[in-house]
Amino acid sequence: MLDISEPVVATAAVSAPVVPAVQLQTPPAATLPRQPIVIIGSGYAGYGLAQALRKADPKVEIRVLTQESGHLYSKPALSIGLAQGKSAAALSGETPLAIEKRLNIRVYPHCTVERIDSAAQRLHTNFGEMEYGQLVLASGAQPIRLPIEGDTAALLSVNNLHDYQRLRERLVGVRRVAILGDGLIGCEFANDLASSGFAVSVIGLGHWPMERLLPEEAGRQLQLALSELGVSWHLENTLQRIEPAEDGYRLSLADGQSVEADLVLSAVGLRPNLSLAETAGVAVGRGIQVDAQLQTSQPGIYALGDCIEIDGQLLPYLAPINQGIQALCKTLLGRPVKVSYPLMPVTVKTPAAPLCLLPPTVGVAGEWRCTLTADGLSAGYYDIEGALCGFVLLGRQAQLQRNTLLQSCQNAQRAVA
Ligand SMILES: Cc1cc2nc3c(=O)[nH]c(=O)nc-3n(C[C@H](O)[C@H](O)[C@H](O)COP(=O)(O)OP(=O)(O)OC[C@H]3O[C@@H](n4cnc5c(N)ncnc54)[C@H](O)[C@@H]3O)c2cc1C
Repeated sequence: MLDISEPVVATAAVSAPVVPAVQLQTPPAATLPRQPIVIIGSGYAGYGLAQALRKADPKVEIRVLTQESGHLYSKPALSIGLAQGKSAAALSGETPLAIEKRLNIRVYPHCTVERIDSAAQRLHTNFGEMEYGQLVLASGAQPIRLPIEGDTAALLSVNNLHDYQRLRERLVGVRRVAILGDGLIGCEFANDLASSGFAVSVIGLGHWPMERLLPEEAGRQLQLALSELGVSWHLENTLQRIEPAEDGYRLSLADGQSVEADLVLSAVGLRPNLSLAETAGVAVGRGIQVDAQLQTSQPGIYALGDCIEIDGQLLPYLAPINQGIQALCKTLLGRPVKVSYPLMPVTVKTPAAPLCLLPPTVGVAGEWRCTLTADGLSAGYYDIEGALCGFVLLGRQAQLQRNTLLQSCQNAQRAVA
């Protein structure tokens, strides 16, 4: 089998590696990193880690393998790109070749890792085999597909730049878009599509949009703000069947209603990619299970980003990935560090109703208390002892309270610890 770590393999190979000017010394107490460090995935986690590693160590050998094209892009930009008139090309940043040069790493685009032999420390890919010293699974998550009957060609989901390009292509000549999913990503796309002139219908299980994250008052205000953009709602409902109609598709809902649409965007959540990790004998649950050092159940194999499960939780946002990158970078370079997650508010990109939230920890008993503002509301989640442990801020005026409420939550958390 071809060993793809040999330079004969044609990828975006670097002709003249650029070595950063500042040469950091490895502290004497550190164990030397086992090389090469191989990262599977070129998303925010994969490239972010490669960049942090290179900044901390100008010499360590780093390889990034990705089944995508390897271009840098911002995934959060995908759900706000239409209203900004951005094509997929406009959202695409550095090429893999430019990244190789900037970071002095090797990137293997369109390279699918099919199997990990953890005993031999070798990867089996569609290009050949590769050895690793330490391995990081930054392999992300994929859209959940509901079992919908009929003509599922009408369905698509957007989880990477290629999907976004397909969405843009499919929207040409289209007027009516149905969104399956009333959660955070579904609402962001509803805002983006409706403000770009499409007739949007949202189909979702919740009593109100983003029911799992918002108290009813906030959910209703978000619903109203998006309705004012023209969004229509089919809540407490789901899609059962898609049939071609004379013009577009007829969507049959669980309650017997039907909706006409030209395209269906599925946004019902993501599921961590587990199958590759399983080939290595790595323990998985809902995600790839990692300890506080982001190490999997197999020594020398770590995981980061949307694919992980830590303390039983999935953390599919950028802020926890940033925390993970900082800790894992040190660990891989021989100074093991535990990751710690501060309170991390999430900004929801619904310009019709600017929204920022800090969800309370799942299972904390308490209640939401809402106060109306001039253009929205501020809601706090108080536990049974009256301590603030989460919030929702909707509307421009409420955003001004973000730092104060975050500070209160941090104080309450410190008091418990
Ligand atoms: C539309 C949208 C909007 C979002 N908006 C926000 C936001 O506003 N704020 C926020 O905090 N978060 C947001 N998120 C979530 C955030 O973008 C993700 O948490 C983050 O981008 C995940 O990065 P990742 O590197 O873990 O995974 P990904 O970006 O999914 O990268 C996974 C990588 O693994 C590679 N891969 C997988 N399997 C293999 C294999 N077998 N072989 C080789 N390569 C493989 C893929 O090619 C890919 O490069 C949003 C998500 C979406 C979908």
